[in-house]
Amino acid sequence: MAKDYILSLDQGTTSSRAMLFDKRGNVFFKAQQEIKCFFPHDGWVEQDPIDIWLSILYVINDVLAKCNLTYDDIDSIGLTNQRETTVIWDKKTGMPVYNAIVWQSRQSVKYCNDWRNYEKIVHEKTGLIINPYFSASKIRFILDNIPNGQARAENGELMFGTIDTWIMYKLSKHHIFKTDVTNASRTMLFNINTLSYDDELLNLFNIPKCMLPEVCPSSHIFGYAEALRSDLVIAGVAGDQQAALFGQNCFNEGESKNTYGTGCFMLMNVGEKPIYSKNGLITTIAWQLDNKVIYALEGSVFIGGASVQWLRDQMRMIKNASESENYANKVNSDLGVYVVPAFVGLGAPYWDDECRGAVFGLTRGTQKEHFIRATLNSIALQSKDVMKTMERDSKKKIKVLKVDGGATANSYLMQYQSNILKTKILLPFCLETTALGAAYLAGLCTGFWKNLEEIKNVHRYQKEYFPTFDNKTIKEIDRKRHNAIKATRIFK
Ligand code: ADP
Repeated sequence: MAKDYILSLDQGTTSSRAMLFDKRGNVFFKAQQEIKCFFPHDGWVEQDPIDIWLSILYVINDVLAKCNLTYDDIDSIGLTNQRETTVIWDKKTGMPVYNAIVWQSRQSVKYCNDWRNYEKIVHEKTGLIINPYFSASKIRFILDNIPNGQARAENGELMFGTIDTWIMYKLSKHHIFKTDVTNASRTMLFNINTLSYDDELLNLFNIPKCMLPEVCPSSHIFGYAEALRSDLVIAGVAGDQQAALFGQNCFNEGESKNTYGTGCFMLMNVGEKPIYSKNGLITTIAWQLDNKVIYALEGSVFIGGASVQWLRDQMRMIKNASESENYANKVNSDLGVYVVPAFVGLGAPYWDDECRGAVFGLTRGTQKEHFIRATLNSIALQSKDVMKTMERDSKKKIKVLKVDGGATANSYLMQYQSNILKTKILLPFCLETTALGAAYLAGLCTGFWKNLEEIKNVHRYQKEYFPTFDNKTIKEIDRKRHNAIKATRIFK
């Protein structure tokens, strides 16, 4: 029987998706279902783990039905997921004891404030900064907010998992209780140097080891999706941003990608030794393949495509996101307008929670077109800040930036990004790089693809952007940007 496809499952914050990839890395049909979010209090974000599981079953069935294939045609399953989101369930019943606490949720901020003294050891051991974003404080919150949580966890009655673990547990009829190194590295409990859970951190946070899943390489036989078919193997797992780095073929040290979604996520492959940032970037595991662990530096822009949503929903200047490009192209400059979309403060390398957004350089001549163009520019300017920080920390120059995510549909933005970075930008042929990365990890494990060389041979790009600005222009943009940020931070 020809097993011509890898089934890739991408469980994201807004939706679950299933895709089939062939040997050439082409997407062969996809299915998608949205996931509901609950906001029980200001800043809290939760989802129903059963809803997530059922959506996965739905999209698997839908994608197979749409293309008239059966499990006979599937070589293996690759899985990628929204990271850090935390589920705890009862070992006996397999039922969640609390909603999934989503990565964005701030409900466990109190614990992080209590743990401030551990900032240094947390960074050394996990590569992370103490933040409610990561799983540790979310686990603490659940154990403290269900009846007898701590005692039940200590008795071995409860199991914790990020979304990959939860889905594998369900897909395997409760037989697989595992995660991969990339997801483990986002829990704030995993020592990225020793590649094991860190007893000192577990003690400090009072989290029992017995509730944690076994940690495996990203390309690995995790077990079988018995709920679908007893011999269907799950062979690749990685968190979404790491899967995208892999799907973008950033296999060599120094290679980097930036994803332009609601926020922007930039990751750089830094090789076999972790590099620790002095400027607030995160160190994380990129993947583990053939017993080799690769590390990455990660930096994010909070307001990326979200600024375009702001133009649409709050400013009401555009009807849809793609209109932003038309308006930006109607004028031939931003007329000196600078938008600093610090709606929730500034991230790397400034780390200023208190400041808020600002617009500079307005004149009587400023039109909506200039305003929109300057807002798009701000996405690229913030990404430049992250990239320059990454280059400084890693002492590596990014020669080519690979891009993906919804806002890469905007050619104006991509060209401006290339111009101000003075760097070539590459847009891959398959924009589903996250799902593709998970498929590659699975296929490398089963022999569907023999090695990285074979993958590199089938990987294609659809568009390249080359920089056109001269040094003087870039210098002037940088000078004004620097002043805009300085002024924004003064206004509090
Ligand atoms: P996420 O995975 O974070 O939901 P997506 O990768 O789906 O994000 O991208 C959606 C984001 O991209 C939205 O914030 C939207 O405003 C932005 N976006 C989509 N198309 C365009 C476009 N043509 N120009 C600029 N921004 C866009």
